[in-house]
Amino acid sequence: MKFACSIHVRGVVQGVGFRPFIYRLAHEHGISGWVLNGEDGVAIHAEARETALQAFIDAIRTQAPPAASISAIEVQAAAANGAPGFTIRESERRDKPTVRISPDLPVCEACRRELFDPADRRHGYPYINCTNCGPRYSVILALPYDRPNTTMKPWPLDEYCDAEYHDPANRRFHAQPVACPWCGPHYLLKDASGMLSDNQAIQRTVQLLCEGHIVAIKGLGGYHLACDAQNATAVNALRERKYRKEKPFAVMVRDVEAARAIVELSSEAEALLISIGRPIVLAPAKADLPGVAPDNDDLGVMLPYTPVHHLLFAADAPDVLVMTSANRSSEPIAYDEKDAFERLAGVADAFLVGDRPIARRIEDSVARVGALGPVILRRSRGYAPGAVASLPVVRPLLAVGADLKNSITLVVDGQAFVSQHIGDLDHYQAFQAFQETIRDLAAMYDVNWDDLLVVHDAHPQYFSTTYALALPSAEKLAVQHHRAHVASVLAEHGEWDKCVLGVSCDGTGYGDDGSIWGGEFFAGSAREGFERVAHLRCASLPGGDAAAQHPVQAAAGFLAQIDGLPDVTAAPFNFTSRYQYALELVRKDVRSFTTTSIGRLFDSAAALLGFTRGITFEGQAAIWLEAQARKSVSTVAYSFPFEDGELDFRPLLLAVAEQRKRGLEPRDIARAFQRGVAQGLANGIRELCSKRELNTVVLSGGVFQNDLLLSDVRELLDAQRLTIWTNHAVPPNDGGISLGQAAMAAFLSDHRE
Ligand code: ZN
Ligand code: FE
Repeated sequence: MKFACSIHVRGVVQGVGFRPFIYRLAHEHGISGWVLNGEDGVAIHAEARETALQAFIDAIRTQAPPAASISAIEVQAAAANGAPGFTIRESERRDKPTVRISPDLPVCEACRRELFDPADRRHGYPYINCTNCGPRYSVILALPYDRPNTTMKPWPLDEYCDAEYHDPANRRFHAQPVACPWCGPHYLLKDASGMLSDNQAIQRTVQLLCEGHIVAIKGLGGYHLACDAQNATAVNALRERKYRKEKPFAVMVRDVEAARAIVELSSEAEALLISIGRPIVLAPAKADLPGVAPDNDDLGVMLPYTPVHHLLFAADAPDVLVMTSANRSSEPIAYDEKDAFERLAGVADAFLVGDRPIARRIEDSVARVGALGPVILRRSRGYAPGAVASLPVVRPLLAVGADLKNSITLVVDGQAFVSQHIGDLDHYQAFQAFQETIRDLAAMYDVNWDDLLVVHDAHPQYFSTTYALALPSAEKLAVQHHRAHVASVLAEHGEWDKCVLGVSCDGTGYGDDGSIWGGEFFAGSAREGFERVAHLRCASLPGGDAAAQHPVQAAAGFLAQIDGLPDVTAAPFNFTSRYQYALELVRKDVRSFTTTSIGRLFDSAAALLGFTRGITFEGQAAIWLEAQARKSVSTVAYSFPFEDGELDFRPLLLAVAEQRKRGLEPRDIARAFQRGVAQGLANGIRELCSKRELNTVVLSGGVFQNDLLLSDVRELLDAQRLTIWTNHAVPPNDGGISLGQAAMAAFLSDHRE
């Protein structure tokens, strides 16, 4: 007896090889019927005996393609029509392209086997891919996602590829970037001695790397600069040529085994490393790789993810390669040939160049397993432009984010698509990239500018704000920075009405009163808004933004309020003259701003513990302080009292100064400072939660990238049975701001209507 049912599969199931998968599965299980891409997922009509149907439905869930992510399978009885065979039907047409653009995917196992199979047509071919893997976002020029709308347009399919492309049973059925050595693009190596292609190019690249040279290698979303990570001379040359003094380099390792040899890899961290996003994973370093991550306990590792990477390792490239974005310090990654050759002349000794153009720049993502689960610190390749939340808003919405670590969020049909990491907008090229990304996503999703609600930060001088205000859209809305941080977490959870206590600890952000916030407690919900209920005691920020570059300058703004402070210009502190100068600004109230920034509080403590030079990358002093604290077993916590809605930093910093003067080990002081901060925050949270009858705490903002702080706070709050929510899908730093802005705006615009 034959049964019939209709099956509806929702989630990320389009553009990921789902229909060919269903087609093959149907044949395996003797199912007749059809499959098609429907309005919001994949629709299947299936007829077979009951046991076969059940096995088929189970297999949909358990054997789904690697890039698919099923959120629901709905099965309903249907009328049998007795039609024989199983077919893939034409997709139902829609008016608007809201089909999700898939992020770029790492080469799959099946393709990897073919890559190394001498009998395969694509043996050694660096552009091998199929519906389970390969480029997506980095090759798409427009929607719908069809070959002519990709950067593969110049390479028409030959007969062989065309047959695969049109065969529903084939892994390459409708694989838009499909190609083979006969019809597709190739790789070339260009160096001083000339040009080599294909296998010779790979061989020569490996030889150069082994000899200690620096090679620019074209990847998915831009160029990398690569060198042997175990060759200190090569690593130092790269630092010098790239003008990158201290910021850690990421490394690419041959395989998981090689990763285990250089970092402490927990099973969660390993799962993250091999996950489909293939991010750079930060983990405690085991091996000493001089110059790769100076003064840093962690090392960022990633696995090969393109066929080229696999070919390089198979050709005996060193097991650990520095693989850093090809740019000079803090510029965006180079992604087109002309730009790469211009900007990297004098940096790279050779260029391994692929013919396939890159549609847009996408850097590697960075993630870590933290005290409260996986955290994304930079969300880009492998994740962007995936939807991270559904917002209850009908009209299209564009949130332009903050000026540092910028990302943008476009909301279409309630789906919040978060862009790749764009960078710091005070760099001209990053600001260009910001504008391109807005135009790009708006065009891709066919956004109507007349309907569009544009959301920006409340900072009137942000580049992003000025740009947003000049856009031709109907309506603009400002969202305060730290409320956006809190809302980003609630958006991830899809909780709009829940009242929470939101704690936003951050470097800088424009506050309601025009002062610089960064240590804020809020009560409220995404729908009703957030009331600021407590904050760090106000300090001064002499010289404004420049104080963020110099810990001693930030320290002046805090230490000016502390009585009985030892002389910090003398040993063991030896503060530079910049401190005196900054102190003058504070005392005369010249170019001094009011701040409640916990980020600057960390900088002040770092200065007292010996970090008296300027920083060379954002957050450096705080990262240094955390690393110091991790070396200590001290259980002391300095006092950081919470009283009348204010956290008083004076006893905390005074204790740091006094203990240092007394000669206590900086690492133990750092630990006691961090415990003190955690305890102060926990005390504030406890008091405010009980007063307002709240049981859920949201922690966000750049300071919570400090995992030691997060685990201290969690430990203290666990005993209180308070639930803690943090970011997992977007970064807790300013990379998550655009999502929070979008979530807040969804309701603010509601109120207005
Ligand atoms: Zn594949
Ligand atoms: Fe922030």
